[in-house]
Amino acid sequence: MTGLRTLVVVLGDQLDLDAAAFDGFDAAQDAVWMAEVAEESTHVWSGKQRTALFLAAMRHFAQALRGAGRPLHYKCLDDADNRGSLAAELHAAIQALKPQRLVMTAPGDWRVLQSLKAVAEEVGLALDIRDDRHFYTTVREFAAHAKGRKSLRLEYFYRELRQRHGVLMNNGKPAGGQWNFDADNRESFGREGPVGVPARASFAPDAITREVIALVNTRFAQHPGDLDSFAWPVTREDALSSLRVFIEQRLPLFGRFEDAMWPGEPWLYHSHLSAALNLKLLNPREVVQAAEVAYHAGRAPLQSVEGFIRQILGWREFVRGIYWTQMPGYLERNALDAQQTLPAWYWTGQTDIACLRDAITQTLQHGYAHHIQRLMVTGLFTLLLGVRPQEVHAWYLAVYVDAVEWVELPNTLGMSQYGDGGLMASKPYVATGKYIQRMGGPCAGCRYDPALREGERACPYTTLYWEFLMRHEALLQKNPRMALQVKNVARLSDAQRQAVTQRAEAIRRGEVGAGP
Ligand SMILES: Cc1cc2nc3c(=O)[nH]c(=O)nc-3n(C[C@H](O)[C@H](O)[C@H](O)COP(=O)(O)OP(=O)(O)OC[C@H]3O[C@@H](n4cnc5c(N)ncnc54)[C@H](O)[C@@H]3O)c2cc1C
Ligand code: SF4
Repeated sequence: MTGLRTLVVVLGDQLDLDAAAFDGFDAAQDAVWMAEVAEESTHVWSGKQRTALFLAAMRHFAQALRGAGRPLHYKCLDDADNRGSLAAELHAAIQALKPQRLVMTAPGDWRVLQSLKAVAEEVGLALDIRDDRHFYTTVREFAAHAKGRKSLRLEYFYRELRQRHGVLMNNGKPAGGQWNFDADNRESFGREGPVGVPARASFAPDAITREVIALVNTRFAQHPGDLDSFAWPVTREDALSSLRVFIEQRLPLFGRFEDAMWPGEPWLYHSHLSAALNLKLLNPREVVQAAEVAYHAGRAPLQSVEGFIRQILGWREFVRGIYWTQMPGYLERNALDAQQTLPAWYWTGQTDIACLRDAITQTLQHGYAHHIQRLMVTGLFTLLLGVRPQEVHAWYLAVYVDAVEWVELPNTLGMSQYGDGGLMASKPYVATGKYIQRMGGPCAGCRYDPALREGERACPYTTLYWEFLMRHEALLQKNPRMALQVKNVARLSDAQRQAVTQRAEAIRRGEVGAGP
């Protein structure tokens, strides 16, 4: 095609026919460009589930574009002349198609934005980057909210959005008379464990997805995880169906068991919608609205509906604002000067630490773990161990199907690792193994004991928790929310301190934790 007016660039996480990039699209003069490239699976060691989900969803979206009559130039990963990076592929497409301009919806990744801008500059083409209206807020609105604040807290931002968008509001007041039901949302399952958890909404791979699975198994054979259980929604229709199933079957108990876990139960009452949302197969407004409708119809209690909406209207928008207002410096922050390397078994799950084995194994198997497993099992361990936040970030970005940098990085570096020194979280999320035990961790079947701080059978979390407090005592003393914990550490005798330090050193040397 010559004389092309606009080439619309669509990335793997922009699978929305109504995206801003398509405004004014004219099939007679414009075309769409998409490319599968190896770099997006190798810049971090991307898990097989994650790569397969992106590629399968992209190929189904390509079908939807063709069905909508939008001319498409699509490069497959296994095309013989694939150049391996978005920049190289876009450059080649521009040379071949000679568009007058490029248009795209703002990407979710700072690195990708820079590389595509550089291509446009190099070839001297205008690149029109449009606000991503998938989100409730623009980055400019978040920046205005953040202006002049030393630390950023979800609660104020979330309330502003509830009011502005009239979500769960009743004559200007929050539904049920309060903004927050977190205190009701901390139950665990008790001794008998969860009973009657609905099966996960699964979508059997069709021919396109099966082809992708075969491709990923060959091309990325050494990458983490496996594809035996792949059942994620890869089309808008399937994503809508998975939303419906969540609202009917899981939302009612979402709130009560939001923080609970149980060995061998990966799905519990969570929605499993993050990947569909982040690929833009679902719009957050339709998700929030479906939950609100269920509440008004008496099909789900307010504590669940508010808790769920808070995650999407609140956290999801909040972390995006943090990412785009703090990048690129955010990526390098390391406020606790953590320098340890990530244990190699994070990539295999081969550890005798039962809760970590459980969370990592399911992660590699499904590309999924729920929030408390990410924050208080895998994330807590690296925080206490003192792993470099950048290595922790590379792991989270690689292994989860929903991982895109705008949402993964603030959650990992800010919320979980306290790498931003408190910009996002008011204190480090630290706890002993007893917290994991209380929330349903597999402590009964673990060779360690969550109540023990020292000695051979001491739970690594419990040892490292005390050692963390000792190591950062001076810094934590300045934080009123840590006062009680700092007071407790001050009571330790010299001998107790020494025993904790010795055991923590053994953990860091890898003498604890390795092996099945
Ligand atoms: C260290 C760490 C890394 C994380 N990395 C990612 C990531 O790469 N991608 C990602 O989407 N989420 C990430 N999260 C947030 C959260 O854990 C996942 O969104 C959630 O577990 C996805 O499962 P779900 O869809 O069943 O969520 P649910 O528990 O059902 O929650 C509903 C929805 O709310 C949104 N949500 C919930 N919590 C958050 C949050 N903290 N930040 C942003 N959105 C949220 C998600 O879209 C999710 O689908 C991370 C959290 C931590 C602690
Ligand atoms: S005892 Fe400690 S290491 Fe073992 S499962 Fe419980 S919290 Fe995890």
